[in-house]
Amino acid sequence: MSSFISLADVDKIYGQTVKTHALSSVSLEVEQGEFVVILGPSGSGKTTLLNIVGGLDFPSGGRVTVDGIHLSEMTAQELTQYRREKIGFVFQFFNLVPSLTAFENVQFAFDLHPGAMTSDEALATVGMESFADRFPSELSGGQQQRVAIARAIAKNPGLLLCDEPTGSLDEDTGRQVLDLLQATARQGCALLLVTHNS
Ligand code: ADP
Repeated sequence: MSSFISLADVDKIYGQTVKTHALSSVSLEVEQGEFVVILGPSGSGKTTLLNIVGGLDFPSGGRVTVDGIHLSEMTAQELTQYRREKIGFVFQFFNLVPSLTAFENVQFAFDLHPGAMTSDEALATVGMESFADRFPSELSGGQQQRVAIARAIAKNPGLLLCDEPTGSLDEDTGRQVLDLLQATARQGCALLLVTHNS
């Protein structure tokens, strides 16, 4: 049986005339509930890798499967469905909608795909239930990232992809966010995190 995430000889080449080999023959296996960190310098292809596993970009070659689904063979429409149902994204700069409260930012995700828990439950999971009515500008960086994690896990995604999730946080807050992500992996969600910061 293949792993939850399986990459076999994945290549990504950008550009026609000037070619950038962002990924060359990358093979990787990740099991459900595993928390995998990929560490590498800027420009080493980390975001490209996450985008391919997250169905935001296509590989130039090789084979990608997630939970038995062959991403390399999917249409753009099928990939949209895959992202909605299976994937949670967490970004360096949180990507919350500034005009929506914390509660509404989480609820917004349910409008795209029904959740496995309510917005209140998702916010409580990350310890943000008492900040539900605040706007992102009224929250610290760490609090905003907690809301972003609540939004990502509310649909019970199976796979959480994190691109430098602690990159704009101080060290202590970053550690708290990593603890929270680790707890999420323990619930059975696979977690792929990329960073340049060991
Ligand atoms: P990292 O996340 O490790 O900083 P990236 O995956 O963003 O690395 O980029 C890997 C390489 O691919 C870099 O050389 C970058 O310039 C190039 N690259 C990334 N995205 C594109 C794109 N859309 N078009 C052309 N080159 C790109």
